[in-house]
Amino acid sequence: MTKIILIIADGLGDRPIQEFGYKTPLESANKPILNQMAKEGITGLMHTIERGMRPGSDTAHLLIFGYPYKEYYSGRGVFEVLGIGMDLRPGDVAFRGNLATVENGIITDRRAGSMESYEVIPETMTVQIGDVTFILKPSVLHRVGVIMRGKGITSNILDLDPHKVGVAPRKKIAIESDIDSKRTEDILNKFSDYMADYLSKHPANLKRKSEGKPNSNYLLLRGAGQHMYVQPIHEKYNLRTCCIAGGGLYKGLAKYVGMDIIDVPGANARINTDLNAKIKAAIEQSKKYDLVFVHIKFADSLAEVGDFQDKKDFLEKIDSSLAPLLETKDTIVFFSGDHSTPCKMQAHSGDPVPSLIWGPPEMICTDKVKEFGERPCQGGGLGHFNGLDIIQNLLNLSGKQKLIGA
Ligand code: ZN
Repeated sequence: MTKIILIIADGLGDRPIQEFGYKTPLESANKPILNQMAKEGITGLMHTIERGMRPGSDTAHLLIFGYPYKEYYSGRGVFEVLGIGMDLRPGDVAFRGNLATVENGIITDRRAGSMESYEVIPETMTVQIGDVTFILKPSVLHRVGVIMRGKGITSNILDLDPHKVGVAPRKKIAIESDIDSKRTEDILNKFSDYMADYLSKHPANLKRKSEGKPNSNYLLLRGAGQHMYVQPIHEKYNLRTCCIAGGGLYKGLAKYVGMDIIDVPGANARINTDLNAKIKAAIEQSKKYDLVFVHIKFADSLAEVGDFQDKKDFLEKIDSSLAPLLETKDTIVFFSGDHSTPCKMQAHSGDPVPSLIWGPPEMICTDKVKEFGERPCQGGGLGHFNGLDIIQNLLNLSGKQKLIGA
């Protein structure tokens, strides 16, 4: 049975960079492995949502996994709490929380000096506001996962976090005037007041304050999402799947669609992530799973701060880590990004993402493309395609696609 390894290098695509002689970071990178895969495989350009649309990483991954975002996307909080190992029930509303500093009612630091949330939030913490239960869990640095559980609540609200300093935390968050919206607003304001009181009295904060260090006295919530039943990917596509990722968001997205999460030592979402360990683990796991999803974060992080030289260097590191894949038999590799992040734009763009499928020579009708990059892939045999097309193509190549008709 042919196995699939689906690798997403976040923010892979880019635009011409003057300092690189108008080549992109990927085009100017030394990448013998990706070039060989392009030469022996088939290439094209992926418009993850549709042509010209700018994908978020969350919506992009849902589409690549074969889940239309209009049906399955309700808000990022859901993926964040799943990614840190919290369990959701249908109807729960999930949030991303930030420990923040508020002085005289005005936000002075949205991250409370990036203090570690575990200093003030225990591993499992629950808060009861009326008949609604809040469940909290510390995440990396100042971040906290928050679940709101109860009847008559909605995620159709504004962020309580105004996303800037110098203003008060938002209190008027109801978008609609129905009972659930008003009730949700009321409960969340009471919860925020409870947390402000809890945090400002917490011994760790009092100690930090006496030492003149930044301290947290407020929990800002954003990214509300209401969890719903999602048909697991093994039922929807008859695929046993797993995820290898460093970033919590990507583990959360994978868990949302029912993938198993494989923890690989040294795999993180940072520049020093152990790429070799991730690819080796992916090959190992492909013996057990039909599809192994590998997420690599940091090219996007570098592009978002405009660091095109480091993005190019990181892409070269990715390339060398892929070498063991060339030794695999009966394995199909899909390599692409979830979206483009042009370094000069420092944000996600709607530019298509260079993509390739590599696999056994008897399976792949190669095209004329001999190297991997934004411009070479314009001439590839996959042409221009959408993110949702990928799972269909991979099912077909791996022999898992159902016959339509007779
Ligand atoms: Zn992304």
